[in-house]
Order: sequence, then structure tokens, then C-alpha cells
Amino acid sequence: MRSMKYFLQTLEETARFGRALGRQLKPGDVIALIGDLGAGKTTLTQAIAQGMGITDDVTSPTFTLVQEYGGRVPLFHFDVYRIEMMNLDEIGFEEYFERGGVVLIEWADRVLPVLPPERLNLILSISEEEMQSDEDQNPRSIEVIAFGRRYVEIVTECAPIWSGIE
Ligand code: ADP
Ligand code: MG
Repeated sequence: MRSMKYFLQTLEETARFGRALGRQLKPGDVIALIGDLGAGKTTLTQAIAQGMGITDDVTSPTFTLVQEYGGRVPLFHFDVYRIEMMNLDEIGFEEYFERGGVVLIEWADRVLPVLPPERLNLILSISEEEMQSDEDQNPRSIEVIAFGRRYVEIVTECAPIWSGIE
């Protein structure tokens, strides 16, 4: 396991952070996004998709549960905010991990028991003070936790770019 923490001061920094990660991703990789409403999960996902070479607009799949995007590597973008654990079976959730794409899950903390143990956790936070500000851009912090060798490799590749964001 390897964990790191960064500060994303602006939208542009969030975008650079996500693009760097997206460039490293390969079929089968699993990204678990955790953080409150408005923390920046979908914004970060858009940047990850860009880094993966996806040119479509990425929007929040809150009402569709999963959205598929084609690119260099397909992206399966989940938002499980409203999911009941039982429904996950119905949509064949676990099969997505075998479908040759990157699986990214917003609100992953709600489905932890069914996530592969090897994955990248990204935990986005926004302080109350920041939330109350009128500014359009405010800093987020992101905690990165790599579980398993593949994910340690990914964060090691990204680290030089990520550490330039501060
Ligand atoms: P979530 O998917 O976690 O609910 P969204 O990405 O939909 O969050 O919304 C995050 C909002 O915060 C967006 O309106 C985005 O423009 C704004 N924002 C401001 N500063 C940042 C930042 N540094 N990183 C990410 N989002 C930011
Ligand atoms: Mg979202």
C-alpha cells in the first residue's frame, strides 16, 4: 500500500492531476472516488477521461448509474449514490471488472464490500470554510491510496507530475 496527499488549489490543478492519472490507465484498472457532494469527483473524472484519450463530454451518471465511453481504453463511469446493494447484482456490476476497460466509481465508499481489493482510492475533501466561500474555484485536498502492486506502479508514474501541483 502507498498513500499520498495533495492539494488541488484550482480547477486547472484538478485537471492536470486527473489527466496525468488518465494517461497511465489500462484495461482492468479500478478507481474508487470518495467524497461528499460537490467535492469534485465528476470534475476529476472528466480530466481522467481526457487523459485516457476520451473526447466525449463526461457527465455525472447519477440517474443512469453507469455511462460507457469509448477511447484508447473504454471507461465505465459509475455513480452509485442512489444504488442499493441488491441492485448492483441486477446490473451485473461485478462483470464490469472483466470487460476490458477502466472502471471508475463515484461514491465508492457505498459499495466497498463488492470492490476488488486491488484498486486506487481517491478521497476528495473540501472544508466547510471553503464550501461557504463564493469563489468558483476553491482548493480541494486529495488523498491517494494505492492497494496492490499495479496501483503503486501507477502512482509512482504520476508522482513527478502530481508533486508539481502545489
Ligand atoms: P461531485 O461529483 O463530487 O459531486 P462535481 O465535480 O460535480 O462534484 O462538482 C464540483 C464543483 O466544484 C464543480 O462545480 C467545480 O467547478 C467546483 N470546483 C471548484 N474548485 C475545484 C477544484 N479545485 N477541484 C474540483 N472542483 C472544483
Ligand atoms: Mg458527481
